[in-house]
Amino acid sequence: MYELNKKIKDLKPYDPVKGEMKIRLDANESCVNLPSEIIDEIHEAIDRIDFNRYPDPNASGVCGAFAEYYGISADNVTAGNGSDELISLIMTAFMMKGQTLITTEPDFSMYRFYTSIAELECVSVPKNDDLTINTDAIIKAASGKNVGAIIFSNPCNPTSKGLQRDEVKRIIESVDCLVILDEAYMDFWDESLLREACGYTNLIILRTASKAVGAAAIRLGFAVACESITNALKAVKSPYNVNTVTQEIGRIIFSHDEYLTKTKNYIVTQRESLYNSLAELERAYPQYFKAVNGCSNFVYIKSPVGRELFEYLYSKGTAIRYMGEYIRISAGTDGEISALLAQMREFCEAYKIDKGND
Ligand SMILES: *Cc1c(COP(=O)(O)O)cnc(C)c1O
Repeated sequence: MYELNKKIKDLKPYDPVKGEMKIRLDANESCVNLPSEIIDEIHEAIDRIDFNRYPDPNASGVCGAFAEYYGISADNVTAGNGSDELISLIMTAFMMKGQTLITTEPDFSMYRFYTSIAELECVSVPKNDDLTINTDAIIKAASGKNVGAIIFSNPCNPTSKGLQRDEVKRIIESVDCLVILDEAYMDFWDESLLREACGYTNLIILRTASKAVGAAAIRLGFAVACESITNALKAVKSPYNVNTVTQEIGRIIFSHDEYLTKTKNYIVTQRESLYNSLAELERAYPQYFKAVNGCSNFVYIKSPVGRELFEYLYSKGTAIRYMGEYIRISAGTDGEISALLAQMREFCEAYKIDKGND
């Protein structure tokens, strides 16, 4: 009788917050949808697609527009079906059986997940008490036996903290293994290594269209690396990994520099506004919240009442991310932030009375 192997038999499909949520602040998406001028261009481009043909395996148009927007060469860019696909691909292809992947804790949960599917060892280096990355500890862990790669997000999901460019360089230059630098949120900060990526033979930078670019729906991510790594990535990926509709939409969005810059600045403002409102709430209810200031499009908050708050907000149609000791809330529009804060205040009042706390 066939039995599922033990690494997959207890897995459950990914389960985002379900139901008709009025306010979605759980997945770090952009709070802005594409404007109608871009949508019109997309309609025209879709009308011209030969749907009977396979996509361009090099995704040249969209890689070119991405490279131009960031001021790098398209020769160093590989497109993926979201950066998730690239993470999975890099772990299976660039790591060998028996090798260890080094990551940090807490960090993006998919890293550990993909290592288990690829049957690799995974070692997590704890963050410092202030949630920043412990650079020396990472370098030390990477000098251990059989380390194939280091992966971490910068700025970090979920902490929202960033590691300065020079410190990231110190890691890359101090280790012999591959460094996978996930810059999913780097549009919101200014410490990117994109322009220096090809100077390193052991670096892959990941970017995504799902956050600042506001196009999570199309599933589009990028890997930026030196020529030999890029050649290897293109050789191991499935040939038609990015569909033509996504390629066309991505090409159009990345050609709108002004729109992209304006939008990411707006989202940063919204994150600051969310942080300030949460800090104010924290002053009123210091026993319930401790908000962490960061450099992404979300705020990480330590809360002993996270579970109860998550459930209360869910019942009001507002989705946030509950992560045990912490919750994570994405930046929204002014209307979303004020509705969220009103609901959080209601919760605090109700919870206080319920528990008889002061
Ligand atoms: C959201 C996110 C991604 C993006 O994944 P896509 O598959 O491109 O949507 C990658 N890394 C981190 C750390 C993220 O938070």
